[in-house]
Amino acid sequence: MRLRTLAFALGMTACALATPTLARSPDAAAFDAAASANPGRAFDMTYEGRSRRIDGLRAIDMEVEGPDGSPARMFRALVDGQAATIVRIGDRVNIALEAETAPPPALASASARTSRSSEWSIDYGFANDLVLEEETPVPPPRGTTGPLRTLDIWVFLHENAGENDPARFVNWYVATWDAEMRESIAPDLRIRMFFKDKVDGITNMDYHSGDRVKRLQELSSLGQDYAESRGMGDSPGARYLLVVGDRGENWGHEFLAPVYGLALQKGHAAMVSNTGPRHVLAHEIGHMFGATHEDASSFPCASNMAGYVPLPSCLNYTDKNRENIRKYLDRY
Ligand SMILES: [Zn+2]
Repeated sequence: MRLRTLAFALGMTACALATPTLARSPDAAAFDAAASANPGRAFDMTYEGRSRRIDGLRAIDMEVEGPDGSPARMFRALVDGQAATIVRIGDRVNIALEAETAPPPALASASARTSRSSEWSIDYGFANDLVLEEETPVPPPRGTTGPLRTLDIWVFLHENAGENDPARFVNWYVATWDAEMRESIAPDLRIRMFFKDKVDGITNMDYHSGDRVKRLQELSSLGQDYAESRGMGDSPGARYLLVVGDRGENWGHEFLAPVYGLALQKGHAAMVSNTGPRHVLAHEIGHMFGATHEDASSFPCASNMAGYVPLPSCLNYTDKNRENIRKYLDRY
């Protein structure tokens, strides 16, 4: 088994925002009202202070649970004529254009945070993936036998990640991944995602310290303990992902480019920094399910398993990596 990491040079730092949400946001209320008043029809709604035209709204299946336990609903639509996904969760709604791949404003540095993400100028630099041989054998997670019927992705939001808008997070990083898995890669499997914060030992883990492989092993073990405490620990399809702010001090560099994610190839745990690009979660999840860099594509856009290239993220896997994931899941 190999440790694989993803290096991207985006040249920015995480910035925690503290905007507790206590009631349904005005945007969420506007979306709910307009969508229910116009079933099957185009409508206008105010979102982030300006009017948007929503056309062709259709619900997409998704089993995602937010940190407060509320379920997410996902939609596809044209928003001002552009393909978009819309995620509604808890008291929030979020619209993400599929062509929008720059870092979202919530993760911008303080000086740039007032810019809209489409106006970002990014320090792309160069980036490469890093492949390391694992130094320590990884013990198989407990309870990894039995037929595979469900993929359970546990996404732990580290306290330093500053992620407090689950609709934005789900939409930005996982909505298109979820849709592709359901529609094109594993339509026979049930796919669930659980977002968790404030899990002692995990969301406050000192992931900077010591050996990064050991940290991933620790995450795998603690994640499984947590899943078991929720009565769902015995799934061979369970994977554990820790989303952090600052990238780990022990993650290293690849040709001077910072590494923005870590995963054990075909392993059960991964870490990503939310200072990385939009496809960083799909990339690291892909490693855990057998997708490879070798079968990625970097033109005309960066497929999920590509390293960073100064082109938009495709927000999907290549046909070859879809097949790699299918084969990997079939072995169960
Ligand atoms: Zn990689």
